[in-house]
Amino acid sequence: MRITLLTGKTSDLPQKIQNELDFPIKIISSPRAGKLTLRIDSKERLPVLSVPKRCPVKKAVDFVNFHKEWIFDSLKKIPDSKTFEDTETFSLFGRLVTICHNPKLRKGVFLENNILYVSGEKEFLHRRVRDFIKKQAKNIFYAKSQELAQKIGCRVKDVTIKDTKSRWGSCSSMCNINYSWRIALAPEFVINYLIAHEVSHLKHQDHSRNFWNCVRALEPECSKGRLWLKQHGKELYLYE
Ligand SMILES: [Zn+2]
Repeated sequence: MRITLLTGKTSDLPQKIQNELDFPIKIISSPRAGKLTLRIDSKERLPVLSVPKRCPVKKAVDFVNFHKEWIFDSLKKIPDSKTFEDTETFSLFGRLVTICHNPKLRKGVFLENNILYVSGEKEFLHRRVRDFIKKQAKNIFYAKSQELAQKIGCRVKDVTIKDTKSRWGSCSSMCNINYSWRIALAPEFVINYLIAHEVSHLKHQDHSRNFWNCVRALEPECSKGRLWLKQHGKELYLYE
C-alpha cells in the first residue's frame, strides 16, 4: 500500500485518503474539525471520517486502519430496515394478509378476502400501506380499549397512533392512550396484551401487583404476550 506523506490540499484530501483505503468511507474535510473523528452513518451504512484541514494523509489513513475492526463490527450491527413489498404476506391485526400492488386501481388501499390491494406508484407502496394500517389501528385499538376499559369501570378519552420506536404504548393521566402503529403487525394475543396493559393504567398508574392482576383479569394470556414482545419486538421495529 502506498502511503502519501504530503499534507493534502484542501479539496483533494478526502480523495487521497480514500485512495489509500480498501473499503468505502465518507470523508469530510472540515476547517472546524479539531481532530480526526470516526462515526457510523447507519442510514447510509458508511463510516464517516472527519478530517482537520491540514491533516497528513498518512495520519488519517493510520487512524482509520487502527479502527478498522470497530468499523466493520459497527456496520454489521446495523439492522436492515424493512419496507412493505408487493406479494409480501404479513400479520395485520392478527390475520395474515398479502399485498397485491396494482397501479391501475382507483380506490387507494383496501382489504378484501385477506388481500391488501394497493394502487398508485410502486415508490409509494410502503407509505400507503403504513398510512392505511395507522388509520385502521386508530379505530380498532380505540374500540378494543374502550371495551376493556368498561370492564373495569373506566373510560378511554382518545387513542393516538404513534410512530415512536421507544415504546409500544403509553397511558396519560387524562385517559388518553397512545399505541405504536407497529403493534398492529404483532399476533392477536400480543395486541390484546398491550391493550389490556395500557387500559389497566387507567386504574393503576404503576406496575404494582394490583396492576398486573388487573391486566391478567382483562387478558389471561398476558404473560405470553409480554414475552413475545421481549423476544420479537425488534423485528417489528425494522419496519420504517
Ligand atoms: Zn406500563
